[in-house]
Amino acid sequence: QENKNRSGLIDDCNCRFDDINDINNKKLYPILKILVKKNYFRFYPINLKKQCQFWIDDSKCVLKDCAVKSCPVDQLPETLRHNKNHHEYVKHRQESTTSECSSNNNDKNSSLGELNKNLSDEHKQTIEKWIQFDDSLLDNFCDIDDETSADVEYIDLLLNKERYTGYSGQSTKRIWTAIYNENCFFMSGSKVYYNLRQKRQNIKDLCLEGRIFYRLISGLHSSISIHLCSNYFFPGYLGLSDHWGPNTQEFSRRFDPKQTEDEGPLWLKNLYFIYLIELRALDKAIPYLEQVAYFTGNETDDEDTKNLLKNQLFNEIRKFANHFNETHLFKDNEQLRYEFKEHFRNISRIMDCVGCDKCKIWGKLQIQALGTALKILFNRKEIHAFQLQRSEIVSLINGFAQLSYSIDQLEKTFKPFINIS
Ligand code: FAD
Repeated sequence: QENKNRSGLIDDCNCRFDDINDINNKKLYPILKILVKKNYFRFYPINLKKQCQFWIDDSKCVLKDCAVKSCPVDQLPETLRHNKNHHEYVKHRQESTTSECSSNNNDKNSSLGELNKNLSDEHKQTIEKWIQFDDSLLDNFCDIDDETSADVEYIDLLLNKERYTGYSGQSTKRIWTAIYNENCFFMSGSKVYYNLRQKRQNIKDLCLEGRIFYRLISGLHSSISIHLCSNYFFPGYLGLSDHWGPNTQEFSRRFDPKQTEDEGPLWLKNLYFIYLIELRALDKAIPYLEQVAYFTGNETDDEDTKNLLKNQLFNEIRKFANHFNETHLFKDNEQLRYEFKEHFRNISRIMDCVGCDKCKIWGKLQIQALGTALKILFNRKEIHAFQLQRSEIVSLINGFAQLSYSIDQLEKTFKPFINIS
């Protein structure tokens, strides 16, 4: 009976796959798809030149599809164009490379997506109080790129969609192994090193926090794989030209139980898990996110953005989000909480070692999104007592939109090839 009740339930959560498919594919994904095209969410600050701290960076990006596409200066929102070096920087970038892109900037709004000027005095005072209490650097689960650095650029995410790039081999193996090895929690007594060939046995041994950590990374890994499978490059042959499209064979290779020693379906379940965690974080942050001005200088676009968020996305999220109780985690164990954060920060640093710029953009963005979600969930202060940087808000919405796309794709494109219950 218990087994029957649990069928279709997502482990460590309180809801069913079908419910998520339903709300995501019908309600949330259609909203997110429009939202990420808005000016506020479209441009993401990133430092692609940060040194890899873990090994000698021998994996320079040479693949055509790893190149980052250039974005014209006049397409940047007013608020992101103010940097005096901006034009020279972009010019320099465009002269020095044809494949890489974007614009350098010191984002004056970076400290908090500028707050709404029309707020009541009472609201303003509350927000000022949150800012005074801010010790967000300590709360951060990620190393955030310093937006005042001369190497930070704004990337137009719409011009650089996450898709197949061909990045693979020793470089990706080293990165994924390093990421999963961060799963080792000393204080939990389970000093388990992840071994790509002995996963299952190790995961059973993990404490709750270790398991959650593993499931989050694995869920993100699944999402990246789904993106590359649904936007795959097919070189032309026999008179057919090159084209992009879904590759169901590649999907089966990565997720079919027979081809993955029964692990594939578990990896897909982890996608639903990370989705729920980010959904829960968004729900918790709504009172805060409602106060952000989402100001880019384009009145119509900014109004649309606020409308989509406040009148649509947040309403849908409120109806559904209460499915994970983060208070079970780190109970009475400050050391474990600290470790979780440190391990996660290391993963954000490992992202600087990714050898394909396009992959690095989305890797960094999605790790920042997850880090922001964890910061929101595991912060013991009131939601009003901390602040988010603009890039954290941008990454959280875009990262969640990527997961949302992946879940939508499972139903629309890969349904005949999956078997999760
Ligand atoms: P990989 O995906 O590299 O996986 C390595 C091993 O991990 C597998 O053999 C399996 O044992 C295990 N594994 C696989 N999936 C999971 C899972 N979900 N959970 C747990 N274990 C798992 N490539 C692109 O084409 N486009 C991109 O945008 C892109 N972004 C990337 C971003 C990052 C941060 C990284 C590290 C890589 C990215 N890649 C991207 C490369 C891509 O993820 C694969 O590494 C590459 O396609 C090679 O795949 P593979 O078959 O060797 O298996």
